[in-house]
Amino acid sequence: MAHVVKHITVVPTYKDFVDIVLSKTQRKTPTVIHKHYKISRIRDFYMRKVKFTQQTFHDKLSLIITEFPIVANLHPFYATLMNVLYNTDHYKLALGGINKARQLIDDCAKDHVKLLKYGDSLYRCKCLKRAALGRMVTIMKGQAKNLLYLEEIRQHINRLPTIDPNTRTLLITGFPNVGKSSFINKISRADVEVQPYAFTTKSLYVGHTDYKYLRWQVIDTPGILDHAIEERNSIEMQAVAALIHIRAVVLYIIDISEQCGHTLEEQLALYRNIKPSFSNRPIVIVINKTDVMKPDELPEDKKKVIEEFQGEGEPVLEMSTLTEDGVMAVKTEACERLLAYRVNHKMKSNKVAGVANRLHV
Ligand code: GDP
Repeated sequence: MAHVVKHITVVPTYKDFVDIVLSKTQRKTPTVIHKHYKISRIRDFYMRKVKFTQQTFHDKLSLIITEFPIVANLHPFYATLMNVLYNTDHYKLALGGINKARQLIDDCAKDHVKLLKYGDSLYRCKCLKRAALGRMVTIMKGQAKNLLYLEEIRQHINRLPTIDPNTRTLLITGFPNVGKSSFINKISRADVEVQPYAFTTKSLYVGHTDYKYLRWQVIDTPGILDHAIEERNSIEMQAVAALIHIRAVVLYIIDISEQCGHTLEEQLALYRNIKPSFSNRPIVIVINKTDVMKPDELPEDKKKVIEEFQGEGEPVLEMSTLTEDGVMAVKTEACERLLAYRVNHKMKSNKVAGVANRLHV
């Protein structure tokens, strides 16, 4: 199954498509024929042109059909993102149209080759060839809109993030300026990539790290998981929906110093706001900037907020990305939580499979 989106070749406009194919026929098939040649040779000459043109159209249309992803076969992360971008029914219809055109062109060539077998003069054969190619061009003209539409989608698809939804992932969330990128830079190799996130203004920052000889992705989602759900537009909502399909442990980072411009109360409110989106994912709460302030140095009312975080039922860790205190412990806890979660998950699904097997017996 094609889980991840591959690179797709440019889809030409109908006019360019036809020009490319016809000029190839002109270049690659013989160009000289005479009335006094044997009729079988004349027929072959024109049949070859019809078949060659049909084959070129066929190959080019097949490339489109095989390169564009079948949404049902995609990983749900990408399928959801594709849904954000366009209407999947329209997409299916466009690909269906291309498929139909390929069939019609094949049939048209077959019919005209058959007629050419009975062509009795150069003039007649030439007319048949011209009719065949003219018909093929008309069929392609009928696909003009679909071709434009698919090209538009191709450009979107090529701009989808190239993250692997099946790789173990640390998903970093929290208000802006709490220290998300500092954390990613501390634990990643020096190759944090900026990935466009299916929308013009938002990006994903993807770093990679190793843990227990496995490769992990670390993803920061600025502008997506750093404000309340009520303030999200529908595209952002769907972006979050796509992220939910990734095998991730979610890290919610808090700035205990409140230097990020948000109070601890606000940070708790955001946490509670985004938590339901990840109800089936392991979560780790991380108190950052402990070099500025430690939880026990907080005034009483702020201490209460930290206690509330601790009462959320998720691990709460402390770190400072500045001094690097606790950073590796956070990474270890997050990775271990995801590994444990996956083991539990597998055990659960094995149990279900076991029951199913017994039922079959
Ligand atoms: P992001 O917007 O969540 O990615 O936050 P950044 O990583 O860009 O950090 C925002 C600001 O906080 C920057 O000026 C960082 O230098 C600072 N910062 C991040 N972590 C710490 C920390 O542990 N201690 C202190 N004192 N400052 C930090």
